[in-house]
Amino acid sequence: MKLRTRLDHRTTMEIQRFLRARQAELTESMRSAVTRRCATEGSRPADSAVWAAETLEDEIQVALIERQTRVLAQIEAALERLDLRAYGYCDDCTEFIGLPRLRALPFAKRCRDCQSRAELCARPEMEALAVVSGLRMRREL
Ligand SMILES: [Zn+2]
Repeated sequence: MKLRTRLDHRTTMEIQRFLRARQAELTESMRSAVTRRCATEGSRPADSAVWAAETLEDEIQVALIERQTRVLAQIEAALERLDLRAYGYCDDCTEFIGLPRLRALPFAKRCRDCQSRAELCARPEMEALAVVSGLRMRREL
């Protein structure tokens, strides 16, 4: 059986507080971004150069909102894992991720090894390399 390092209560509360603060901050920033977008809607000048610039700005806004939505989803997932006492364990190998990594990346779902393997596998051209390095790692064990 694997030894499961536990997060102590104080650390759990600390992480939860951090996640909730970040969640509130993001929700607020998204709300004001949406409000701003609605406020500028309909007041566009007819000039096409300005239109283009605004469109680019719009695109940046949309990209930003999409990114924030993704982060919010990650925060919600992390809070859920905290509730279920599953927080801090790697999705792939179920090992404890480790406090230094969790402090740096509070939404981390994988340990460093599994994360880099997952990232390699996400890129098709790197898949072969992941297989090779996986084999090498196994041999070193
Ligand atoms: Zn792992």
